[in-house]
Amino acid sequence: TERTFIAVKPDGVQRGLFPEILSRFFNKGYKLVAIKLTMANEPLLREHYADLQSKPFFPSLLSYMLSGPVLATVWEGKDVVKQGRILLGATNPLASAPGTIRGDFAVDMGRNIIHGSDSVETAEKEIALWFKKEELV
Ligand code: ATP
Ligand code: MG
Repeated sequence: TERTFIAVKPDGVQRGLFPEILSRFFNKGYKLVAIKLTMANEPLLREHYADLQSKPFFPSLLSYMLSGPVLATVWEGKDVVKQGRILLGATNPLASAPGTIRGDFAVDMGRNIIHGSDSVETAEKEIALWFKKEELV
C-alpha cells in the first residue's frame, strides 16, 4: 500500500499543533506507521530539499527547519500521497483554503508548519532519508 512522509515543521511543533495534525490524518482513515520527534541536520535537509538548493529563499528555509525539532511521520493508506497534500493545503497559506492545515493554522509561506511528499516516488525517497527500516512498523 501507498505511504507518504509528513513532517510537522519546527513552528508547528513549538505551537503544539501536532495532536490536531495527527488527528486529521487519523480521522481521514490513515494508518500511522512511523513517528519520531527529531532535530534535522544540514546534510539531511540539503538532501530533502535538493531541488530547492538554488532558490533565493533556501538559506532561510534551512535555518527555519533547523530552528527546533521536527515531528517526522509516515502514513499509509489509499491515495495517501495526494490526499495528504489536500489535507495540508497549498504551499502559500494565502492560497490554502480554510479547512486545510495550512489554511487553518498558517499565514506565512516561510513558516507553513507542515511538509508532505509531493509524489509516490518522492515519498519513498523521503521515508528512506528520515527513517531507518526498523523504525517503520
Ligand atoms: P513542502 O515540501 O514543505 O511540503 P511544498 O511542496 O508545498 O512544501 P516546495 O516547493 O517543496 O513546497 O517548497 C518547500 C518549502 O519551501 C515550502 O513549504 C516553504 O516553506 C518554502 N518555500 C517555498 N517557496 C517559498 C518562497 N517563495 N518563499 C519562502 N519560502 C518558500
Ligand atoms: Mg515540497
